[in-house]
Amino acid sequence: MVGLAVACALSNMPLTKHLRVGIIDSNPALKSRNYLKKDGIPDSRVSTITPATMSFFRDIGAWEHVQQQRHAFFGKMQVWDYTGLGYTRYSARDVAKEYLGCVVENKVLCNSLLLRLQEENRDIEKMIYPTRLVSLALPSKSRQVPTSEATSSGYTSGELHRSNLVKLELSDGQTLYSKLVVGADGSKSNVRQAAGIKTTGWNYSQSAIICTVEHITENDCAWQRFLPSGPIALLPIGDNFSNIVWTMSPEESLRHKSMSPEDFVKSVNNALDFGYGPHPRSSSLDFYMEKLFSDVGSTAASTKECFEVPPKAIGVVSERMAFPLSLKHSHDYVSKRLALVGDAAHTVHPLAGQGVNLGFGDAATLAKVIVDGVSVGADFGDISLLKRYENDRKAANIAMAAVLDGFQKIYSVDFGPLNVLRAAAFHGAQYISPLKKNIISYAMGDTKWPLLL
Ligand SMILES: Cc1cc2nc3c(=O)[nH]c(=O)nc-3n(C[C@H](O)[C@H](O)[C@H](O)COP(=O)(O)OP(=O)(O)OC[C@H]3O[C@@H](n4cnc5c(N)ncnc54)[C@H](O)[C@@H]3O)c2cc1C
Repeated sequence: MVGLAVACALSNMPLTKHLRVGIIDSNPALKSRNYLKKDGIPDSRVSTITPATMSFFRDIGAWEHVQQQRHAFFGKMQVWDYTGLGYTRYSARDVAKEYLGCVVENKVLCNSLLLRLQEENRDIEKMIYPTRLVSLALPSKSRQVPTSEATSSGYTSGELHRSNLVKLELSDGQTLYSKLVVGADGSKSNVRQAAGIKTTGWNYSQSAIICTVEHITENDCAWQRFLPSGPIALLPIGDNFSNIVWTMSPEESLRHKSMSPEDFVKSVNNALDFGYGPHPRSSSLDFYMEKLFSDVGSTAASTKECFEVPPKAIGVVSERMAFPLSLKHSHDYVSKRLALVGDAAHTVHPLAGQGVNLGFGDAATLAKVIVDGVSVGADFGDISLLKRYENDRKAANIAMAAVLDGFQKIYSVDFGPLNVLRAAAFHGAQYISPLKKNIISYAMGDTKWPLLL
């Protein structure tokens, strides 16, 4: 998704549309050239995308293709935990917007970017290399031969040119040379490893199980409940379908993957209702919080909304898939003639649905930096130019990774005093309107930094 977004952004801009871009990936999603049917069963791999991502897709001309395919806006969100000590509701009306986000199948995002690329490049088939990268050699200092020395030692101009490029070897036997390689190859990035870029991070000892479930009515709210083993999210994906993202221990995820569909649905409904603990109830604390903070800025619309029970699932209608979860951050995003984007640069916990949104932020910034370089005749593989991309994105990505890691840790502990603190945080986010609005703006990608009141 993120690599296609870089290609699409470059081909959309007058100064970079002439660049020859190759996309190397054997993923079958790259074969799709038509709209995906809206009436089928939604795929289990979906992304909650923020208004900031939607606006990037609009800028590069890909959003109209998303609109022709299945997508589900949501304007409400409810977050609570199993202790029953509190809940928070968010509404797009809190920040005078129509929606908080949109849930889109990953294959729809890929397909929309491909369709947009096709509009700009009639020969899209020549851009796509349906194969895998096997090895990559960066132009090291020792391989860069000065022109005078090169001609006297018998280098041809072609060899001289190539010695300054990245050499890529593909699994189908082809060799390519490139002025810039964008590593958009996910959290286990080969490009990152070949470039010797180190990462910091850890495994969460958690897996997320994902699937599509059906209801008897349409779901229009994003729901998330924190359970002792991790959060479960129920995300609307259009018609009477929702997507489940349920974090649990790897052993539990294996058990949930293999149990009968009926037992799985029972387990989901239990987790989103009375399982593990009671529903949050209004208490005198709510009354005082509401009174105390009613004068702090204008009151958010959702402050008075009561806790609701999510719609029941009546069946699981897709394959159940499990993904091990980890946090990973690359020490560098760039080196000479190389830039990492998306999960290749940073992998975060999916609990707030931010991962690919960060990646699309990288894509937008990298494309802009390349355009800036081309506009002044600079070499766009030059590290000093690419560093501008890294400087812009690194701090914002680290801030989000830290926030998500903090949430993951705070909600993984079942300990009396911490449970009370968590309850206070739910009440704070529910009743302190400026805090609530700030959380919404950060999650929507409108602000780059968390909690600047
Ligand atoms: C359970 C779960 C739920 C999530 N939900 C959300 C959400 O709601 N919102 C959100 O923003 N994010 C979400 N994420 C995160 C999101 O899925 C990732 O951030 C996103 O997939 C990263 O996109 P990417 O393009 O960088 O990498 P990837 O999607 O990992 O794509 C990498 C591509 O590189 C290709 N590739 C790899 N190696 C090679 C090679 N050697 N040669 C050629 N090609 C190669 C692969 O085939 C693949 O197509 C979720 C993640 C998980 C696990």
